[in-house]
Amino acid sequence: MIILVLNSGSSSVKYQLLDMNKNTLMASGLVERIGDKAGETTHRRMPGTPQEQVFSREQNIPDHSTALDLVVKLVTGEQTGVIKDISSISGVGHRIVHGGEAFSAPTLVDQAVVQGIRDQIPLAPLHNPGGLAGIETAQRLMPGIPNVAVFDTAFHQTMPAEAYRYAIPAGLYKELKVRRYGFHGTSHLYVAKQCARVLNQELENTTCITVHLGNGCSMAAVKNGRCVDTSMGLTPLAGLVMGTRSGDVDPALHSFLADNKGLSIREIDSLLNKQSGLKGLCGDSDMRDIHHRIASGDKEAELALKIFCRRVTQYIGQYMAILESTQAICFTAGIGENDSKVRQLSCATLSGIGVKLDPERNRQRAAGQTLEISSRESQVKVLVIPTNEELEIAIQTAQVLS
Ligand code: ADP
Repeated sequence: MIILVLNSGSSSVKYQLLDMNKNTLMASGLVERIGDKAGETTHRRMPGTPQEQVFSREQNIPDHSTALDLVVKLVTGEQTGVIKDISSISGVGHRIVHGGEAFSAPTLVDQAVVQGIRDQIPLAPLHNPGGLAGIETAQRLMPGIPNVAVFDTAFHQTMPAEAYRYAIPAGLYKELKVRRYGFHGTSHLYVAKQCARVLNQELENTTCITVHLGNGCSMAAVKNGRCVDTSMGLTPLAGLVMGTRSGDVDPALHSFLADNKGLSIREIDSLLNKQSGLKGLCGDSDMRDIHHRIASGDKEAELALKIFCRRVTQYIGQYMAILESTQAICFTAGIGENDSKVRQLSCATLSGIGVKLDPERNRQRAAGQTLEISSRESQVKVLVIPTNEELEIAIQTAQVLS
């Protein structure tokens, strides 16, 4: 069974073609700057194998339809391709950011589902339109091939009301569905499944904390395989400190900045999403750059790192408190998988609640591998688990289709 996974953003489309029977990645790529004159495409044939070939080109890509047409040509092309024609594709899995309360599982797309995704646009005005464009284009260019929508919010739909409701007037929940949703759900679920595998038990018996630290950062408390709390909220701005996003701040900050700096709501939104986080604290949003600066004695960068890790520590403590008995803490994504210093600082003060790293194991390079980095006396296992959102989307798509 061959599955095409599409992650359509407002100006980019990421794709992977996976052979689920042979468990191989056949092709992957990225079409960027859709709508710009100089659109860029990078296509990898048989990535990660000795036969890997990379094709890059620049061309005008006015819209998503042109982008997806290009993807189809690349995966079927004589030199670039890995399949003869699109009829070899069993289904297309689409990453959709927001499913609201309407979608708690991957869903086969029909007209009602398209409308359901459209209905969530007020909750994700920057993200759902890209996903919808991907679905509608796939329906047009690949008629007869089923589409499956896989939602970033779905895994978190099992949270109880005491975790997802905010202490604001109840009418706002009833009228506008103002509540915590959570994001990165596909990654959290994938990592929780891998954690169950490492612990050699069923997901249903697995209680763990998943710590996704990339450009966007979020955590989930997973009890017996189901999400019971997560750090992102109504939007992906809440929770941990991120590359350019503030994470949690005093909710009165908006009115303070409006009153004292004359900023509009839109300007404050942009300030908290694009100019804050690590970038706001020290000017750099990439953790590698921050480490380089710390190595040369930069105090601002050092403080940014400390604030970033302290927030992770606080959330781990919070989640261990509500989970009662945590079996494992799983670090994942760009920073979580690669940055031993962040892992060390985040766990440094947790020995009192049974979490102890082995410094030597923590320093090992993960490089795509799952590692156990806790010490033998640690009551909670600490794991590094590479995430793979595209693979999880493909797995869920295949499950829906079969
Ligand atoms: P995205 O959320 O865009 O998918 P990633 O999961 O790729 O992001 O994570 C990006 C972050 O991971 C960046 O802050 C980057 O600095 C960090 N990162 C990637 N590789 C390393 C590394 N070897 N050491 C430390 N940080 C790393």
